Amino acid sequence: MQIFKVGGAVRDRLLGKPVTDIDWVVVGATAEEMLAKGYRPVGADFPVFLHPKSGEEYALARTERKSGRGYGGFTFHASPEVTLEEDLIRRDLTINAMAEDDQQNLTDPYQGQRDLEARILRHVSPAFAEDPLRVLRVARFAARYAGLGFTVAPETLELMRQLSESGELEALTAERSWKEISRALMEDQPQVFIQVLRDCGALKVLMPEVDALFGVPQPEAHHPEIDTGLHTLSVLEQSALHKQPLAVRWACLLHDLGKGLTPEEQWPRHIAHEHTGLKLIKAVNERFKAPKDCQELALLVGKYHTHSHRALELKASTLLELLQSFDVYRRPQRFEEFIAACEMDARGRKGLEQRSYPQADYLRGAAKAAREVAVQPLLEKGFKGPELGEALKRERLKALKAYKENA
Ligand code: ATP
Ligand code: MG
Repeated sequence: MQIFKVGGAVRDRLLGKPVTDIDWVVVGATAEEMLAKGYRPVGADFPVFLHPKSGEEYALARTERKSGRGYGGFTFHASPEVTLEEDLIRRDLTINAMAEDDQQNLTDPYQGQRDLEARILRHVSPAFAEDPLRVLRVARFAARYAGLGFTVAPETLELMRQLSESGELEALTAERSWKEISRALMEDQPQVFIQVLRDCGALKVLMPEVDALFGVPQPEAHHPEIDTGLHTLSVLEQSALHKQPLAVRWACLLHDLGKGLTPEEQWPRHIAHEHTGLKLIKAVNERFKAPKDCQELALLVGKYHTHSHRALELKASTLLELLQSFDVYRRPQRFEEFIAACEMDARGRKGLEQRSYPQADYLRGAAKAAREVAVQPLLEKGFKGPELGEALKRERLKALKAYKENA
């Protein structure tokens, strides 16, 4: 049997990027031989094995054929006769379809190295269209390598467009989609992921609520970029520049969905978009089964981001309601993430990227003031149950009034 390094490990070594996980392909072997050598099978009838020591993935060379809708509709054929070239042709992009042996001899039948040098993301063969997940993968790689100057080949974008129009994207499971979306959001330029999805018509299918923001104007005084879609891309860009965690990036993407529902005659104003947007945020959250922390933060940011922007003008009682809604007493970290998302929203505007956001420290100070109200003296006064809760709120309100006066 012969063993080759494939996929990302080869690509990233040639790009001079750090290689994190290595995928291997094994040519000329049977499953029985792999088991005899101590490799562990990953699934009952899938020809992929884990190395007994390193745990890295070793896949038997295989060919694939589409036999129905979605990913379940795939049949594969693994046997010792399948060649390296046959295995490589089933891969998504030419830059992902190179292999190398232990002497670093490159096997590159589909000109991956040429495309790597030309900074082009190009599909390997028309079979690309057999798995709709590749639309998301290409957009994710575009987000990752945009900084190096990579773009999607026009003919690949065209295939992605056909796939998006064909209805195949709807066959993707929430789990597979979320895995790509969440990884893409954590890349250096997540806004490129959304942009590429939009360019090929996939955004309209996957997240019509986000797609609808493009072409919707906002008041120029607050939003020099005017377009709500462009604003959303900028907010996402800021979230990556500031190394925000996934939940913050997800909330950034969804914070303004309500603006897509504003009747045209009200443009460029968006009265109560924080509220109208909530059901859309909920729908997107659920469509992709986003993790609970992402779902929660997106809803809270959607509902309260304008509160944050107006923090310094809020009455003490409104401030208190905000802090109570966030349960800042037990969930301080979530409130920090809320503030971070709101700051990204404020900076994700044309020409305002460097502005300061005094609201952040002001809100932190308010949370601290409310948190410092001690329970013990109230217990000593005999308050308990719901009365204790009310007394605590009164004390916190007092503390916030004092905070406002001294701020
Ligand atoms: P990463 O750095 O994100 O791990 P990668 O290229 O290694 O990038 P993997 O998901 O680890 O991506 O997959 C390894 C290889 O398997 C890819 O490089 C590609 O050749 C192939 N591959 C993975 N998923 C698909 C797919 N859905 N369609 C076609 N080829 C795929
Ligand atoms: Mg990999």
